[in-house]
Amino acid sequence: MPDWVVDLDGVVWLGAEPVPGAAESLSGRLALGERVVFCTNNSSERGQDKAAALVSHGLPKGVEVVTSADAVARLVEPSWNVLCLGGPGLREALQSVGASVVDSAEADTGSFDAVVVGLDRQLDYHRIDNAARAVRNGARLFASNTDSTFPDTTGLRPGCGAIVAAVATASGSSPIVAGKPEEPMADLLRERLPRGGVVVGDRADTDGRLAERLGWPFVLVLSGVTRRSDLPVDVPTACIAEDLPAAVRTLDSWYPGSV
Ligand SMILES: [Mg+2]
Repeated sequence: MPDWVVDLDGVVWLGAEPVPGAAESLSGRLALGERVVFCTNNSSERGQDKAAALVSHGLPKGVEVVTSADAVARLVEPSWNVLCLGGPGLREALQSVGASVVDSAEADTGSFDAVVVGLDRQLDYHRIDNAARAVRNGARLFASNTDSTFPDTTGLRPGCGAIVAAVATASGSSPIVAGKPEEPMADLLRERLPRGGVVVGDRADTDGRLAERLGWPFVLVLSGVTRRSDLPVDVPTACIAEDLPAAVRTLDSWYPGSV
């Protein structure tokens, strides 16, 4: 009986639109006592808000969500002065470890131990300028993730990787990356799911590489970034399914008698 790491964007929902039946499809596995950790590289919103959205989609209260903001916050020391280029989810995660956090819109002077970059929907030239300036002045550069895009109902939108690239280019510095498929997120998931699990996601380069790093099976779903015309992907897949409900049905058959 596996535990589960399930991606959100492109698997459970596309922007504000749920993937039909996706959240509900896991209810049966949860009822069996299996653990599901929803794992997203999207750092801009708060994990607790995503958990509330999952409950509104039919999942039980107490559902677990980890974000790349949680992963990058583990790399930050409580004593640090941090410049945050990102949304409220990233800001709160950094504050939760005790760091002093300044928004990138507000600081064009000052000394910082770290600049942490996440998806920032208020991005403008001034914020990039401040972040790059702080890195050139000696701050370490961290990124929640480097996904090039994320999917919503309109197609692919610019991801955090596009923003990180701007700061890295302007500062001449390479970031330390925390989210999927990097080690800080893998470390967080090993702690949460010590008996291991399957990884379900829509991206080979993040979800698939994460599964490879963990040594856990990767289930690729075709409801998000990866389409059937993109196959084959260049990471090992245990299963390719149209969407999460189809993936759950397949895994039900791998573990007969468990449902
Ligand atoms: Mg995804």
